[in-house]
Amino acid sequence: MLLEGFAVEDFQRDLIGWFEKEQRDLPWRKDNDPYKVWVSEIMLQQTKVDTVIPYFNKFIEQFPTLEALAEADEEEVMKAWEGLGYYSRIRNLHAAVKEVKEQYGGKIPDNPEQFSKLKGVGPYTTGAVLSIAYGIPEPAVDGNVMRVLSRIFLVWDDISKTGTRKLFEAIVRNIISKENPSYFNQALMELGALICVPRNPACLLCPVQAHCRAFHEGVQAELPVKTKKANVKQVAIAVAVLKDEHGKVLIHKRDGTGLLANLWEFPNCEVVHSQENPERQLEKFLKEEYGTTVRIGNSFTALEHVFSHLVWKITVYDGKIIGDVAETEQLKLVDEQEIGLYAFPVSHQRIWKEYKKTDG
Ligand code: SF4
Repeated sequence: MLLEGFAVEDFQRDLIGWFEKEQRDLPWRKDNDPYKVWVSEIMLQQTKVDTVIPYFNKFIEQFPTLEALAEADEEEVMKAWEGLGYYSRIRNLHAAVKEVKEQYGGKIPDNPEQFSKLKGVGPYTTGAVLSIAYGIPEPAVDGNVMRVLSRIFLVWDDISKTGTRKLFEAIVRNIISKENPSYFNQALMELGALICVPRNPACLLCPVQAHCRAFHEGVQAELPVKTKKANVKQVAIAVAVLKDEHGKVLIHKRDGTGLLANLWEFPNCEVVHSQENPERQLEKFLKEEYGTTVRIGNSFTALEHVFSHLVWKITVYDGKIIGDVAETEQLKLVDEQEIGLYAFPVSHQRIWKEYKKTDG
């Protein structure tokens, strides 16, 4: 039994005592406003703390309350998220705050069952928000916490398997401080971020070293066990920055579902290597898809857009539009100065920056 011989109260005291002294000064820790805690937790999924801080401050300035976010226009919200990536996070959060406004009168439910039913809210977010904002002793187990706990409890189960998280949640339910679940969960996360890091954990500085079984056996470097992901698929994409005779730029809005849904982009197509060169493929695509005749020029940059399961290998061309464009809700010609008003994925923001360099 994993908990046998484990000094739960001493562990809580050592962990929380350390957190009280050493916690980083982060903007979402200034008050325990459930809305701000929620926004920060969503931003922190898949994004590092240092990157999140300026985005968080700007986002809260723009949408200071749940009502403000619920009432905001989708385009404006996407724009505020631009650069953070993983856009389904903000689409779900936006839908969820609207639901909170309508169903719960704007008060974020403090009941795990109700809260976890909201869009984009999984067990980790439920535990993090409810423990930090409402002091409810729910586990908040993410990859970071699994790493720390697999070392402390010497767990050799593969943390990339779904069932393993349940095991760690069960452990946390047994060891979480009922007096201060907020600090307990935050301290575990902070320990994973500052001390019990993936490579070379700083065991000599660790506040819970006395409780750590991996340290006592000298196997902390071998944990956690995590199987490698299957090979990530690579797809070649050709992108065109196209101008018409008035210097207007052609942009396209992606569909409402799938990767980077509803974001704007420069026209692009997947390159099929067995066919003619990418320039001709792009010209054909623009003609067939949008009825637009274009002449593709030179390739001026290449970059990658990495998703969790896929990498786009992007080659970018400049080019000219010949004749008219039939504009629609999803296909627009815009002035260069207006480009900044549209939400683009990071890769396309970089494309625009590179284009501006070559365009003088
Ligand atoms: Fe992690 Fe080392 Fe602390 Fe154990 S002693 S929890 S391995 S930092």
